[in-house]
Amino acid sequence: MSKYRVGILGATGTVGQRFIQLLEDHPQFEVTALAASDRSQGKAYAEACAWRLPGEMPQAVRQMIVQAPEPPLACDIVFSSLPGSIAREAEGAFARAGHTVISNSSAYRMDRDVPLLIPEVNHEHLSLLDAQRAGGAFGEGSIITNPNCSTIMLAMALAPLHARFGVDAVVATTMQAISGAGYPGVPSLDITDNVFPFIENEEEKMEEETLKILGRVSDGRIEEAGMKVSAQCNRVNVLDGHMASVRVKLSRPAEVSEVSDALRSFTSLPQELRLHSAPARPIIVRDEQDRPQPRLDRDAGRGMSVTIGRLRRDTVLDYRFVALSHNTIRGAAGAAILNAELLVESNGFIPR
Ligand code: NAP
Repeated sequence: MSKYRVGILGATGTVGQRFIQLLEDHPQFEVTALAASDRSQGKAYAEACAWRLPGEMPQAVRQMIVQAPEPPLACDIVFSSLPGSIAREAEGAFARAGHTVISNSSAYRMDRDVPLLIPEVNHEHLSLLDAQRAGGAFGEGSIITNPNCSTIMLAMALAPLHARFGVDAVVATTMQAISGAGYPGVPSLDITDNVFPFIENEEEKMEEETLKILGRVSDGRIEEAGMKVSAQCNRVNVLDGHMASVRVKLSRPAEVSEVSDALRSFTSLPQELRLHSAPARPIIVRDEQDRPQPRLDRDAGRGMSVTIGRLRRDTVLDYRFVALSHNTIRGAAGAAILNAELLVESNGFIPR
C-alpha cells in the first residue's frame, strides 16, 4: 500500500521538528507538506527552521517550501502543532476540506464528539467519530486530538489502576520541562536557578482531560470518570521530560504487589496490533529508590513509555509514586503519530 501523505502545521516549532524527526522513514506516512507562520512561509524549510534536535534535519524536507496553515495542502492527514490561539480555526478549516486532522493543541480536546485519544487507554473513544460524522460539521474530514503532555502521562499511569481497582481520587504535582513551553519558551533568566509555580491553564487541562480520557463511551457520548483530580503544575530547569509526583485513592483495597503488577503488566491494543510507534511496554516500573529521572528515563521505549518509580503506600491517600515521560514524544508528536497509526489500522477511515 502506498504511504499516506502527511502535512505538518507548526512544522518549524518544537513539536513540529519532533514530528519531522519521528516521521523520517515511517512505514505508513510520508511528509508532503509543511506549514508555519508568515515569518516562515515561502521559504525552504532549511532556511525557515532553526533545527534544534540532535542529528541532522532530514534531507527529504530541507527544500520543501513552507506554506500557510490553510487548505489546500497536498496531504491526506494533517498533524497540527499550532499554538492553541489559532488552532481552532485552522484545524476546523482542514477538517471541513476533507482532511483527517490529528491535533496536539487544546482547541478541540474537550468537544463532545472529538476523541481525546491515548490508544493504550481509550481506543474505544474512536467511536465518537461516528457522532462527529453524523453531526456533519466536517463532511468527509475529521478531528482527533491527543491530550496535554502531562495529562497523557497521568492518564496512562491511572488507566491500569482504574481498570483493576477503581480510582476515587488523584493528587498530582508536576515538574515540567522547559521544552514544554515551545521555542523560545520561558526566558532563561526566569528558569535558571529557579522553579516556576505557574503554567497557564495547565492544571485545569490535567483535571478536565483526565476525566474525559478515563471515561466510558455510552450511547455515543463520553460518560466522564467519577474520580476527583487535583493538579499543581511547576516548570523546572530540565530540557525534556515531564515528571509528576502522584497520590491515588483506590476504590478497593489492594496490596502493593497487586498495584505494581497492574502497572507492569499493562499492555493494550497498540501492542497487540504491533503499531510502529507503540512501545513494547507502555509503562515501565523501576524499583531503584532514585528513579525515574528525566535525563535517564525520558527516552525509555524510544520516548513512548511512561516510567514509574517510588511506588509505595501513602499516609494520606492509598498509594504514591513518581511518573515520567518525554513531553515532545509521548506527550506530543509521538502520541499524535500513534493515534494516526491506530486510525489507519482499525478502520482505515482516512480519505485520500
Ligand atoms: P513552538 O515551538 O512555539 O512552535 C509553534 C509553531 O507554530 C511554529 O511552527 C510557528 O511557526 C507556528 N506558528 C506560530 N504562530 C503562528 C501563526 N500565527 N500562524 C501559523 N503558524 C504559527 O510551540 P510548540 O511547543 O511546538 O507547541 C505547538 C503546539 O503543541 C501548542 O498548541 C502546544 O500547546 C502543543 N503541545 C506542545 C508540547 C511541548 O512539549 N512543547 C506538548 C504537547 C502539546 P514559525 O516558526 O513560523 O513562527
